[in-house]
Amino acid sequence: MKKINKILIANRGEIALRVIRACKELDIQSVAIYSEVDNEGVWVLKADESHLIKGDVLQAYLNYENIISIAKKSGCDAIHPGYGFLSENAEFAKACEENDIIFIGPKAEHISLFGDKMASKVAMKAVGVPVLEGTDEPILDKKEGAKIAEEIGFPIIIKAAFGGGGRGMRIVHKAKDFDSMFESATSEALKFFGKGEVFIEKYVENPRHIEVQIIADKYGNVVHLGERDCSIQRRHQKVIEIAPSPRLNDEVKKELFRISTKAMFKLGYESVGTIEFLLDENDTIYFIEMNTRVQVEHPVTEIISGIDIIQRMIEIAAGDKLKFMQEEIKFRGYAIEFRINAENPENNFMPSSGTISAYLTPGGPGVRLDTSAYAGYKVPTNYDSMIGKLIVSALDWEGAVNKARRALDEFFIEGLPTNIPLHQQIVRDEDFINGKFTTNYLDKKLPKFN
Ligand code: ADP
Repeated sequence: MKKINKILIANRGEIALRVIRACKELDIQSVAIYSEVDNEGVWVLKADESHLIKGDVLQAYLNYENIISIAKKSGCDAIHPGYGFLSENAEFAKACEENDIIFIGPKAEHISLFGDKMASKVAMKAVGVPVLEGTDEPILDKKEGAKIAEEIGFPIIIKAAFGGGGRGMRIVHKAKDFDSMFESATSEALKFFGKGEVFIEKYVENPRHIEVQIIADKYGNVVHLGERDCSIQRRHQKVIEIAPSPRLNDEVKKELFRISTKAMFKLGYESVGTIEFLLDENDTIYFIEMNTRVQVEHPVTEIISGIDIIQRMIEIAAGDKLKFMQEEIKFRGYAIEFRINAENPENNFMPSSGTISAYLTPGGPGVRLDTSAYAGYKVPTNYDSMIGKLIVSALDWEGAVNKARRALDEFFIEGLPTNIPLHQQIVRDEDFINGKFTTNYLDKKLPKFN
């Protein structure tokens, strides 16, 4: 079995720190990289070794030839990609293997399969997973799109074929609006992803976003680590994630776990991954996409399962067998994650910039903080606005919500606006407290919050 002794972390921010922590506990050396605007990043200090990447500050985390060359020069035998950046880039995974460096993640073939939302729907359908009716080829032609939309029946959703992050997405309720929506979706897709192609699928009204965490080794052992409810979203982007879902029928849950593990076994998937579903008002299950990386929201699952997802991911990449069987995994309590974003709720959630001048973090039992922020930290505006995650947990839902309220009230960040005031309102909202929320919850509530 190949042992991993030194890992380069091809990422920044809280996830870079999270991987460094996992490395330290496993007695593995860690190597950080950082761009010119990230020289004050806490992960840069905490890694055993750090390398500045000069030049374009975005490319610093994307130029994989450069990253692989640093890994080789510093004697790394593996690279952890975190999330975003190169984490779902099949070419990068291949280039690592070609350079005799272990890519800590799934096989390149699975990254590329699931990177294509349409192809992944076809593949998942073939292994027994229910999918939403829709196109299985990317389309660019408006007339062709309109015809397909008619066939599926309104409402439909148009999505960027080669995109993500909620960009290039348009919901169309009536045929008369199709043309203009199609045009804006394709031009947004072109702007953000360099490719204007879109696909169309049936729009689910008032769904819940429920996802299943999978972990699988190289020997065909596949287990699930339960589900997460990620229905609290703003513009199709997750804001709060919960494990387990506070309102989900046990039978439906069982079915989600059954189809997810079976599909991953049949496809020969390895490493960690998340299968995302939408559930309609009758609890009908529809697969939407699979993410072939560790997710932002993995901590809530770690808390309820007691399993360190990053550490196990590293061991699997090194060729270890899974240490536990499904029956041995016991779920306990509830965990809620709040994404802390440097953005201004009073100005349409525009990303905010500045230096954190005062910083007081919540603590006490049941509080976990995964963040790279600190007093005096200057938040760069070149990257995603998320500066950390507050995760709270308790034995029951009510306890977790009470703790969330207390912890959010303790959290004090001065110097730039954050979305903490938004979270404080959500945890006081009756519908949230009663677990009554779908993916439309936040967009409907926002005008009512002050
Ligand atoms: P992305 O990769 O851009 O994040 P996803 O396909 O994962 O896009 O969808 C993100 C969110 O968009 C979902 O959680 C859901 O709120 C909404 N969404 C996506 N597809 C549909 C659909 N067919 N019907 C209703 N909502 C959808």
